[in-house]
Amino acid sequence: MRPLYLTNTLSRNKELFKPIHEGRVGMYVCGPTVYGDAHLGHARPGVTYDVLFRLLKYLGYKVRYVRNITDVGHLEQDADEGEDKIAKKARLEELEPMEVVQYYTERYHEAMRLLNVESPSIEPRASGHIIEQIETVKKILAAGYAYESNGSVYFDVEKYNKDHKYGILSGRTLEATLEGTRALDGQSDKRAPYDFAIWKKAEPEHIMRWPSPWSDGFPGWHLECSVMGEKYLGEEFDIHGGGMDLMFPHHECEIAQNVASRGTQGVHYWVHNNMITINGQKMGKSLGNFITLPELFSGKHPKLEQAYSPMTVRFFILQAHYRGTLDFSNEALQAAEKGYKRLMAAWRSLDGAQQCSEAPSAEITSLRDKVEEALCDDMNTPIAIAHLFEAVKLVNGGNLSKADAWALKSLFDEIVGGVLGLRDEDAAASGKAEKALEGVMELVLESRSKARAEKNWAESDRIRDLLASYGITVKDTKDGATWTLE
Ligand code: ZN
Repeated sequence: MRPLYLTNTLSRNKELFKPIHEGRVGMYVCGPTVYGDAHLGHARPGVTYDVLFRLLKYLGYKVRYVRNITDVGHLEQDADEGEDKIAKKARLEELEPMEVVQYYTERYHEAMRLLNVESPSIEPRASGHIIEQIETVKKILAAGYAYESNGSVYFDVEKYNKDHKYGILSGRTLEATLEGTRALDGQSDKRAPYDFAIWKKAEPEHIMRWPSPWSDGFPGWHLECSVMGEKYLGEEFDIHGGGMDLMFPHHECEIAQNVASRGTQGVHYWVHNNMITINGQKMGKSLGNFITLPELFSGKHPKLEQAYSPMTVRFFILQAHYRGTLDFSNEALQAAEKGYKRLMAAWRSLDGAQQCSEAPSAEITSLRDKVEEALCDDMNTPIAIAHLFEAVKLVNGGNLSKADAWALKSLFDEIVGGVLGLRDEDAAASGKAEKALEGVMELVLESRSKARAEKNWAESDRIRDLLASYGITVKDTKDGATWTLE
């Protein structure tokens, strides 16, 4: 098996990937909070961890990929105060919170399906794991790293920091964390501003609530990923992924909860993808540059000059290394569209390549080697794509031997289609149009043959001439009419 290197946020180094169990990989990725349409910020982790999932399988691992759906506990401003994002949407739309969850989960799945993102092995929901979360709160309390206050339970960061180190993932010290948080007002139930809720007592108007030993309430947002990761992947598992914006506090808190409840950090490799900016700015509703995936795919947004197909978006994301920033602009997307189309045209022209048992030339063998090496070097998709364009040149140059054509076709099928997850949208679209034309022609010829049966020659000739004007030639044979398109 080719060695795989991943940059581990914990060590800030590129490390050789060694799974806990030989041949098997457990991977957890933080999924969306489903209170609105998926946007560009969801497309990047969606595609990044899909490529990692596909790459691990390509390398021969058996992968259990868990990506959660957050349907409770994620409060506004990602903090301990404020309204639950889903409950707020439900209140504004006069819906049951689970109606909001159902609707946007389906919309999210549809957007991911269009981006050709494979479904994870398990997609657990936070609200389906309340019992497990309550059990973990009990364990953290019993270990002495949490305290109850007015029906809520808070993680005691200071106590934890004395025994273990808080901030190992983000590199933030407790003092630095303090600077970034607001001072407590006299009303707070917390002892210190950096403490975080693992159980929150629900206010009377809060509709999403469950009974617990402390209050009718709901679990803290960070807790769900600790609990569902452990439930489906074990006390220690291989890879945890997510956007860089989740590193602090979400993932930092996850590590603290893991250590406090089960005595281990739990995760061997933390992988973080960088953010997408729009014309150099952070995406935000107040900036008017908040673009959802349905808007991107349809072109219906004032910032968009045209619609961008899902595969153009996927290719655009893959053109950058996942750890680098990626700036969205119409020009960048249009350039990606051109590159994507060139890659697909080369792939399509290999359609006729015949299986061949002869070995390909050294040039093609080394090309494949370079592509695989780039992918295994911390998922360097831009370098892999650059090498794939060398393959495009060879294809476009013509005169390929039978063995080389077959080897290149396999490279495209297995890497471009299999690992990078690109689909040929034009081929799919033209296939659809062909099918529709066949159906329409059947109808037209049926009505023409009816006219002929009624000896309505004028009508039959009118249909034939009209079709001819579209380049469709109709021939009458003894078995009926046939047609050809020029
Ligand atoms: Zn999470």
